[in-house]
Amino acid sequence: MRVAFLGLGIMGHAMATNLVKAGHEVAVWNRTPGKLVEGAGIAPSPAAAVQGAEVAWLCVADTDAVESVLFGADGAEASLTEGMIIADSSTISPSATVKFAERVASKGVAWVDAPMTGSKIGAQNGTLVFIVGGDEAQIERLKPLFAAMGKKIFHMGGTSKGQATKLAMNLQIALIFEGFAEALTLATKLGVDSQQLISLIDATMVRSGVVEYKAPFVLARDFTPNFPLRLMHKDIRLTLEAAKEARVKLPALETVEEIYELATEEGHQDLDYAATLTLLEKWAGVQVKGKAA
Ligand code: NAP
Repeated sequence: MRVAFLGLGIMGHAMATNLVKAGHEVAVWNRTPGKLVEGAGIAPSPAAAVQGAEVAWLCVADTDAVESVLFGADGAEASLTEGMIIADSSTISPSATVKFAERVASKGVAWVDAPMTGSKIGAQNGTLVFIVGGDEAQIERLKPLFAAMGKKIFHMGGTSKGQATKLAMNLQIALIFEGFAEALTLATKLGVDSQQLISLIDATMVRSGVVEYKAPFVLARDFTPNFPLRLMHKDIRLTLEAAKEARVKLPALETVEEIYELATEEGHQDLDYAATLTLLEKWAGVQVKGKAA
C-alpha cells in the first residue's frame, strides 16, 4: 500500500522501517529533519508526504502534535482526498480524537485510532499489539499494515475507543511499575537481595509483563528511554483528564502523578519512566542493586 508515515521517534522510526521491509511504498516525514528510513521517500512536509497516499499513519508525541501535523501549516489536511484513511498510533486524548475524526470525515476520510503497546523492542521486532477504535471495514483495509508492524489487533469499538482503552492500559503499567519500584526500595532498605526478590516475583502470582520487561533494565541501572518518562507523564495526565471528564476518581494514579511531577523537577523527563525508582531510592537513602550493577 502507499503509506505516508508521519513521526519518526523511538516508535515511528521502527514502525516505518517494518512497513518498508514488508514491501509497502512509504513516504516519511519528521518535524526535525535528518531522520531517514532506508527504502522510504522523504517528504518536506506532512502535506507533501500524504500526497497520493492511501493511508496517513501518525506516530507523534501528543494531542497538540497530532493537531499540528494534520491541521497546522503544511499539514496533512491539504492533501487529504476521499477514501483515504488516517491511522493514529500516537497516544492522545479520546475526546480530541473524536473532534479530529469529525473534521476529516467532512472530506470523506476515515479515522482509525490505533495506539499500541509493546514499547521500543515490540516496535523493532514487529510484535506490537494495536488497540484500535474505528469502523470494521476500514480496519480490515489496514490489516496488511498492522501485520507488518505488530502481532495482534484488539478492536475495542468505534472512533476513540482505542485511545480510551490505551489510557486504561497505561494506568495499569504506571501503577504496576510503581508497586514494583516501591517493593524493590523497601526490600533493599530491609536488607533483601533484589535479584532474589525478582526470582520470587517471577515464581508467584505477583509476576507481570511489566516486571519481566523492566527488571533487567532496573538491575543494570539502565534508564535510557524505552518509554520516556515525559511520555508516560503525558499519558497519566491524559488519563486523569479523561477521568475528570467522565467524573471518575482515580486516587492511586493521582498520587503517582505527583511522583512523575517530582521526577520531572529532578530533570529525569527524558530518561525511561523506570527512573521514577531513583526518587524512591533517594527518599529511602538506598540504591537497588542487581548482580550486573
Ligand atoms: P518520541 O521518540 O519522543 O518521538 C516523538 C515524535 O513526535 C518525534 O517524531 C517528534 O518529532 C514528534 N513530535 C513531537 N512534537 C511534535 C509536534 N508538535 N509536531 C510534529 N511532530 C512532533 O516518542 P515515541 O516513543 O516514538 O512515542 C510516540 C507516540 O507513541 C507517543 O504518543 C507515545 O505516547 C506513544 N507510545 C510510545 C511507546 C514507547 O514505548 N516509546 C509505546 C506505546 C505508545 P521530533 O523528532 O522533531 O522531536
